[in-house]
Amino acid sequence: MPAPAIDLSGQVAIVTGSTSGIGQAMAEALAQAGSRVILNGLGDPAAIEATRARIAADYGVEVRYHPADMTKPAEIADMVDMARREFGRLDLLMPNAGVQHVAPVEAFPPEQWDKIIAVNLTSAFHAIRAAVPIMKAQKRGRIVNLASAHGLVASPFKSAYVASKHGVIGLTKTVALEVAESGVTCNAICPGYVKTPLVEGQIADQAKARNMSPEQVMRDVILAAQPTKRFVEFSELAGLLLYLASDMGASVNGAALSIDGGWTAA
Ligand code: NAD
Repeated sequence: MPAPAIDLSGQVAIVTGSTSGIGQAMAEALAQAGSRVILNGLGDPAAIEATRARIAADYGVEVRYHPADMTKPAEIADMVDMARREFGRLDLLMPNAGVQHVAPVEAFPPEQWDKIIAVNLTSAFHAIRAAVPIMKAQKRGRIVNLASAHGLVASPFKSAYVASKHGVIGLTKTVALEVAESGVTCNAICPGYVKTPLVEGQIADQAKARNMSPEQVMRDVILAAQPTKRFVEFSELAGLLLYLASDMGASVNGAALSIDGGWTAA
């Protein structure tokens, strides 16, 4: 049986942290499948506008941008409401914005802990809280949290990040149980390493924390954890996201889906 092409025409998606890396690639994949998209994230306004206009032109869908800071609950609620205000619906929410800081726990700056928990975990709560009533009223919706292999296992020097991503999986499971009878699903995607600006920053931070060269960190730390010895590709993440977004994904609920080259199998 040939796999049906995934068509999200007429749908509306929000991807937080989509001005860079994984979020931008996932927003683009959703637009390519026909969904309208609301972008979000930090960055240079002119560069963000250029990205927004390019995605809209390349795929012929409406693309908007909301500047919500993921540490500000009222701004997050307004971002979700933008979908209702401007498009009258919200089909997919992808809480993806994330930050990282790498340091031994005894030297971990408390303000970095607070920021990582706020951006990586609490922002997902605020976005989901605002999105669920819209999705329940539609009797259909998809929440796809961008967690991490670090939602399932730990690595040293990443206390806040690992705690935040484990928290995202707990949030995912709880919401999944609450929405299960309403046509809404809530899942978490758990990638291994994907080469984005966030990982490039970690290579430098890990080199400092471990007193190693950046090359050693890449070979012996980052890809040491990933049995395939290569980074996860954006196209591989997009395939999983689009499957979850489609009707084929309707019975996948409350799952933490590993896409990590076998990292968490070890
Ligand atoms: P990235 O640094 O390329 O992108 C992060 C995005 O989050 C950017 O758009 C940034 O502007 C946005 N952001 C950060 N703080 C924000 C704030 N306060 N308000 C609004 N937006 C904010 O990183 P990435 O690697 O693409 O990471 C995306 C997600 O994937 C993160 O949740 C990350 O933890 C997760 N992840 C990444 C990897 C990887 O290897 N790159 C692996 C597993 C999980």
